[in-house]
Amino acid sequence: MEENKTKYMDKAINDEILEKLSLKNRYQFLNTTMMTALEPDQFNFLRSAEKFCMRYEKKNKIVHSNDEDLYDWISDFGKEGLISRAHPFTEIDMDYDSYGMATELLRCLALNFFDPQFSMGGGATVLAINPVYYHHENIPIRLEILKKFVTGETPGAILITEPERGSDAVHMLTLLEEKDDGSYLVNGEKIYNTNAPKAGYVVAYATAEENNGNTMAQVLIDTSWDGWNCDRVFIPWVPRVYLGHEHLVNLRVPKDYILGPIGKGREHLFEGLVPERIGIALDSTSQCWNAIAHAAIYVNNRKQFNQEILKFQGVGFLLTDLWARLTNVTLGLLRFCEKYDEKIEKFGGELPKNISQAMVASASMFKYHCTALSKDICYEAANLMGGAGLCDNLLTHDLLNISRIQEIVGGSRQIQQYIMSMAMRTLYKMTGI
Ligand SMILES: Cc1cc2nc3c(=O)[nH]c(=O)nc-3n(C[C@H](O)[C@H](O)[C@H](O)COP(=O)(O)OP(=O)(O)OC[C@H]3O[C@@H](n4cnc5c(N)ncnc54)[C@H](O)[C@@H]3O)c2cc1C
Repeated sequence: MEENKTKYMDKAINDEILEKLSLKNRYQFLNTTMMTALEPDQFNFLRSAEKFCMRYEKKNKIVHSNDEDLYDWISDFGKEGLISRAHPFTEIDMDYDSYGMATELLRCLALNFFDPQFSMGGGATVLAINPVYYHHENIPIRLEILKKFVTGETPGAILITEPERGSDAVHMLTLLEEKDDGSYLVNGEKIYNTNAPKAGYVVAYATAEENNGNTMAQVLIDTSWDGWNCDRVFIPWVPRVYLGHEHLVNLRVPKDYILGPIGKGREHLFEGLVPERIGIALDSTSQCWNAIAHAAIYVNNRKQFNQEILKFQGVGFLLTDLWARLTNVTLGLLRFCEKYDEKIEKFGGELPKNISQAMVASASMFKYHCTALSKDICYEAANLMGGAGLCDNLLTHDLLNISRIQEIVGGSRQIQQYIMSMAMRTLYKMTGI
């Protein structure tokens, strides 16, 4: 144990079981359960990402305590190609062999087991990567920023939410004004933007007319510019993730940084929602697997009344119920991801609007279901570990906390339900009944 690291100060769990809960063993549990569901190339990618995380944790003596800065790790994960595998990234000379939504699921699993808060911060960078990837138009500065995000030179952030506009994201108050040289002058306030205080660049939305979704635009901002003022919002459930509260004051955005001009912002916002919601579903599912791996190892080793506690039905049947629910959702999610990847391949890298639209309901379903599952599973798995599951020397504590915010991030539970009910209405009309 490192002297300046606090993770193991009040250790309750015995050494033998603590050792069994190592990253290596939790990966082993995951791999054994997922083996039959994955293709050989998928399994190889998962194993290689896991190997990197295990080596990295060991080499840097990481104990996932609150005094470690997870933003210090980003560049090393970037060099390893583990920031985003959503695309091949040939335009920035990366040319990954394994890429797509299914690969993203495996990347999330590996990173989430390593550190759930690190994985969440990485997810926000992915949200900034996607719009730059789709709208770089070969403009050098955009490609340069894309490369910085993907290689881990800087984290990214996305600025949608405002203090007065959360769920109602298309009626923005942050204003932009077009200047003669084609640049925009932006004024307004944004909040809860994951990574923003640490990000070199962010993707932001603003509108030419208050509350008018038809006049929205999407821009890239260099956070070293005048007019960028960002304070940290501290969220106790994720104390190592930095969220921003920004005041944008006469911030000038040059033409090359405008990803979607006035009138295109809302379309760009909606285009990002399917991958965003699926991304949150991937991360939530990974949190569940991490929690189940902890609990499965623990209850197979912890003895009470002279028996492994798994053998008591109250423990074993609850854990297997959670395990069954999680396995089934994971298989569904994997199938969705593979289908999504097939369609992207078929249509040359970008989904036609009607297909993307058809996926909106599924993305909301997965976001809704997986975040609710994370809330249940992370709590119940920790509960099955008794006092040991709740004290500070395990990641179960982080998982329990992080699972409490998944339903809010990226559109709340009620908003997903609203989207699903509208999708059902559309579907019903299509039936002609
Ligand atoms: C940890 C964290 C990270 C985040 N990261 C980002 C980020 O990177 N970028 C970003 O832009 N934003 C981010 N957000 C903001 C997040 O997307 C918003 O918090 C979320 O959309 C809800 O907005 P709100 O907080 O203003 O709540 P409100 O919109 O005020 O909602 C309050 C409650 O009312 C309910 N409600 C609202 N409208 C309706 C309705 N029509 N029907 C039924 N119920 C309704 C909601 O479900 C919720 O329960 C983050 C938030 C958190 C907590």
